[in-house]
Amino acid sequence: MAQQQQQTPLPEAIASQPWNPSTWRSKPIKQSPAYPEPSKLKKAVTELGRMPPLVHPHEINALKAHLREVAQGNGFLLQGGDCAELFDYCEQGAIESKIKLLLQMSLVLIWGTNKRVVRIGRMAGQYAKPRSSPTEMVNGQELPSFRGDILNGYHVDEREIDPNRLLKAYHHSAATLNYIRTALSSGIADLHRPLDWGLGHVRDPVLKEKYSKIASSIQQTLRFLQVINARPGELETVELYTSHEGLLLEYEQPLTRLMEKPTHPGVSRPGTPPGSSPTIKPVAGDESKEYYDTSAHFVWIGDRTRQLDHAHVEFFRGIANPIGIKVGPTTPTEDLLALLRTLNPSREPGKITLITRYGAGKVASLLPTHIRAVEDSEYRSCVVWQCDPMHGNTLSTPTGIKTRRFNDIYSELEQSLRIHKEQGSYLGGVHLELTGDAVTECLGGSEGLDEDDLSTNYTSFCDPRLNEKQALELAFLVADHYSR
Ligand code: PEP
Ligand code: MN
Repeated sequence: MAQQQQQTPLPEAIASQPWNPSTWRSKPIKQSPAYPEPSKLKKAVTELGRMPPLVHPHEINALKAHLREVAQGNGFLLQGGDCAELFDYCEQGAIESKIKLLLQMSLVLIWGTNKRVVRIGRMAGQYAKPRSSPTEMVNGQELPSFRGDILNGYHVDEREIDPNRLLKAYHHSAATLNYIRTALSSGIADLHRPLDWGLGHVRDPVLKEKYSKIASSIQQTLRFLQVINARPGELETVELYTSHEGLLLEYEQPLTRLMEKPTHPGVSRPGTPPGSSPTIKPVAGDESKEYYDTSAHFVWIGDRTRQLDHAHVEFFRGIANPIGIKVGPTTPTEDLLALLRTLNPSREPGKITLITRYGAGKVASLLPTHIRAVEDSEYRSCVVWQCDPMHGNTLSTPTGIKTRRFNDIYSELEQSLRIHKEQGSYLGGVHLELTGDAVTECLGGSEGLDEDDLSTNYTSFCDPRLNEKQALELAFLVADHYSR
């Protein structure tokens, strides 16, 4: 039969279609694995469907309310963590060092921006990776690509896709999240002790001094207390939300549950528009419930899976969570608005975060057009603009090591801050791949890491991450920009 050119349906047409957590199955899908044993997959998915939610609608809606503030220029979103979280990272030290780094960065950001900082970890579920090729070369051997611990293992003997890993991903997410909650409720984030968070691996005296100055003056600063809206007892802990790319719909679907919309006054703020699209009526006549993807507070659609008429957009249009969309050089401007209209037809402020990732050489020519398209439309001040200066700046060294130049990362962030200011819009967040460990994965920074240094401590199994010092330098860039 002759191939007919398919017209992409209009957003209004998509949004008027009935939705349930499995309607994505009738759409074409990218990056979806072929599971070798369908019966094992079915068993795993059934078991996931029985498991309790990992996060609660109360928390999801609280995050959405915070992101609404960010969209309107009254907060800043810090999101960071590994490119690919491994099951092995589910241990005390790795979790604590990431929490501490996010806390240190947010301290710097609060100080500089004079705004509330919303923190989201790429943690407790960031196990699925999109890949550009089904195979990759490892030590001269062609192997099925490593697609993240939720599907197969990095080790050469574990490259076969194993559906039981879906359950393992759930359990590792649960254990990680449990320790995040425990650590936060046990004083790790006590603002009376910011110096105890230590600058473990940072030796640069200038950076240390800058950080210490901020940290030691905090206790005396009334302005700071006002910004964080402190009440007695609230200084001892902070909120840290979780996120991952919602790539594996076989995993997200069974964790998507029809649950009561929270009515807690602190969560549903006065004037907050209803959480769901008017066209999605999960149960006839029942307006009190919505579908929540309880695998994480925030999930995002990756750069490779944001086709309007495909499965990922279909799945995401029905969930009440705040969501992200990666936006890059291959995003046509028309698609941007079509995506907003499909995924957020009721125009809830803060529902969508646009995570822009163009690369240092392209951001100046592409970002202004994207900003104008959104800010001159009915979505003005509705989205959170977040800069991901990592994914447009990946390169390979002549010896084949995946890396990024710190200067390119810094430059994309600096240009994005400037462009938003020029365009009269607000850059409300950064999205970073980082780790609290002293890794040597990105070139440059004030330590001046060069290609020979990369092998000193290169431990990422996917994209290169910023180390503690490089990450703090970026926090200071944003803080300095907003404090001017
Ligand atoms: C990622 O965030 O790790 C990723 C794969 O990004 P992108 O979809 O923007 O390429
Ligand atoms: Mn990545």
